[in-house]
Amino acid sequence: MSSLLLPSHLEEILARGQRLREAGYRGRFAPSPTGPLHRGNLRTALLSWLEARWQDGEWLLRLDDLDVPRNRPGAEGAIQADLLWLGLNWDGQPLRQSDNRGIYATLLSALRRAGHLYPCRCSRRLLADISAPHGGLTVYPGLCRQRQPQWGWQQGRLPSWRLRLPPGPLHWQEQFCELGQLDGATEVGDVVLRRADGVVAYHLATALDELIHGITDVVRGDDLWSSTGPQVAVMALLRLPPPRYAHLPLWRSAGGQRLSKREGTEGLAAYRERGMDAAAVVGELAASLALVPAGSRLSAGELLAELKPANLAAAIQTARVRMNPRLQEMQPPQKQMKAQMKKSK
Ligand SMILES: [Zn+2]
Repeated sequence: MSSLLLPSHLEEILARGQRLREAGYRGRFAPSPTGPLHRGNLRTALLSWLEARWQDGEWLLRLDDLDVPRNRPGAEGAIQADLLWLGLNWDGQPLRQSDNRGIYATLLSALRRAGHLYPCRCSRRLLADISAPHGGLTVYPGLCRQRQPQWGWQQGRLPSWRLRLPPGPLHWQEQFCELGQLDGATEVGDVVLRRADGVVAYHLATALDELIHGITDVVRGDDLWSSTGPQVAVMALLRLPPPRYAHLPLWRSAGGQRLSKREGTEGLAAYRERGMDAAAVVGELAASLALVPAGSRLSAGELLAELKPANLAAAIQTARVRMNPRLQEMQPPQKQMKAQMKKSK
């Protein structure tokens, strides 16, 4: 592998992102415009907004709209309307990943030239057949890694482009859960950065966007925890530090059970049908983490004024331990929280 040489315009964009980071807290909420926000998304948006406002920082709205066939007409407008209805105002214009396709392509070319990528023609079927039957993280076994690279069409298909991930651990800072660390070779593997259909992969676009938008803090759902490894790997290739991450536990019922599909995908429309206004919905979102008593009514601004960051950290830790009691032994929450609070001062 040769060293990664970036065109000067990309270097400049990255340097600007670093300057933005140095200027203060910058968070973002990044939904895909594939449909209405469901309750878990709404709660993530609320907590991400709260943290940015506590820190007197910027809160950006980014639409992750690269997977065009999955986008739904009107979804972007509906997302914006939902956030504003809840009182979650973002700073500046909404950002769209589709506006950055040129930048992603520039980075992909540079990575390919420097030998950090290789073409892969493994079919989804083949990979499903050889992956672990128990689920969990499925790591690509590197079948195409040593082959002579053939980037062009073969049998009417182009290859996907995989990252040749160097061995070793990937680290990042986690705000609420266990240490952010995944082993490159055994837990992340050679992820796809450009799909065979030409679509830029989520990991590449997201890693680059966090950097160019100068994001200091990412607040998102636990379902994206394992995505952090590949994204941190891309940032490491660019020799830039990752943001700090806060992964939020998934929404559980009051009894601690997983929500049904219907419950999980409910959005504001369902709340409104039950006659709830914005104050009642903010109360419900906050009560789901025991931040306020059930049945509370308050605006997002009132929640911001009443709640303390330490209470949020404690509530998330409690929700996490309830879901996975093993964490209690692994990491004393008090100690962890104190360390975090010190850091955030
Ligand atoms: Zn392959």
